[in-house]
Amino acid sequence: MKNPFDKSKILLIYTGGTIGMKEDPKTLALTPFDFSQILQEVPELRKFSSRIDSHTFDPLIDSSDVEPAMWVELAGLISRKYDDYDGFIVLHGTDTMAYSASALSFMLDHLRKPVIFTGSQLPIGSLRTDGRENLVSAVEIAAAKNMRGEALVPEVSIYFNSQLIRGNRATKVNSTSFDAFRSPNYPSLAEAGISIRYHDMAIHHPSHQERGLRIHTTLDTRVAILKIHPGITEQVARNVLLGAGIRAIIIETYGSGNAISKPWFTSIVRESARSGRIILNVTQCLAGEVNMDIYATGKALKEAGVISGYDMTTEGALGKLFFLMGEYSDNEKVKQLLEKNLKGEISK
Ligand code: ASP
Repeated sequence: MKNPFDKSKILLIYTGGTIGMKEDPKTLALTPFDFSQILQEVPELRKFSSRIDSHTFDPLIDSSDVEPAMWVELAGLISRKYDDYDGFIVLHGTDTMAYSASALSFMLDHLRKPVIFTGSQLPIGSLRTDGRENLVSAVEIAAAKNMRGEALVPEVSIYFNSQLIRGNRATKVNSTSFDAFRSPNYPSLAEAGISIRYHDMAIHHPSHQERGLRIHTTLDTRVAILKIHPGITEQVARNVLLGAGIRAIIIETYGSGNAISKPWFTSIVRESARSGRIILNVTQCLAGEVNMDIYATGKALKEAGVISGYDMTTEGALGKLFFLMGEYSDNEKVKQLLEKNLKGEISK
């Protein structure tokens, strides 16, 4: 067993995004800075007794360019370095951070160490940056252990603007405010004020059987997302729900899971489900859940073969589908597991 008073070792993985940018004094353009110099940029990090190493992705990417291949690279890196570090911080652009954190939560199994995504709205090299606080508090949380030497938050999470939230419950809600992320359907895991308050009841602790990190790197990305809106045409619905090469469709419905009750729509949904495609119902509301038993419009979807996404975010649903479809070729098995809580992504 680890001595709880051992210094924690943290690996800082810089993938790209605003946080690692610095203004070039000559051109005034934002360019990525050399992360091996991180201690010079954020001298506060020297005050930690933890050892902090860094790893920089090559090439660095704006997170709008994130592809599942990058998640595979990230999972592989964490797995190779797993025994050498007590916690991992992934510096990532904010635009797709919730997608990456969701996907990683399914790809990393039997996790006993923190994997914390963070980033910032302003570059770390700028005076009013939010990146400094985000990074420093994320390091403190990643290094935190109990008296038995176990990590306080052994989950994939996002730390942003004083809140630590579960990765697969997160969504980006603001493009300009420092308060950019929310976990609308699940409480935060920790909150940073004068001290860091851990909400232990909300944190998942692995069982003793869950030993040794396992990673899942086969992802099937044949998923389409259809957002229902007034005026959606039959042709658009048909193209998505019956499109070639699409194995699963996430329908973003109104309210508690309602869509258009017109016979043309229900018949396309039915045809799509009969063809074996997986259709998952997620609400386009920020908070709350799908319940297809309340309204006739929801009932029609259920009868047509649509699966409930309950209170999953679209980001969580996408990561879960990529992972489950990569693991199982049988769509019935995927549907069965979609309705189960696998990594704390649904309140069931
Ligand atoms: N476009 C940037 C990115 O997602 C925005 C950010 O980091 O905040 O990489």
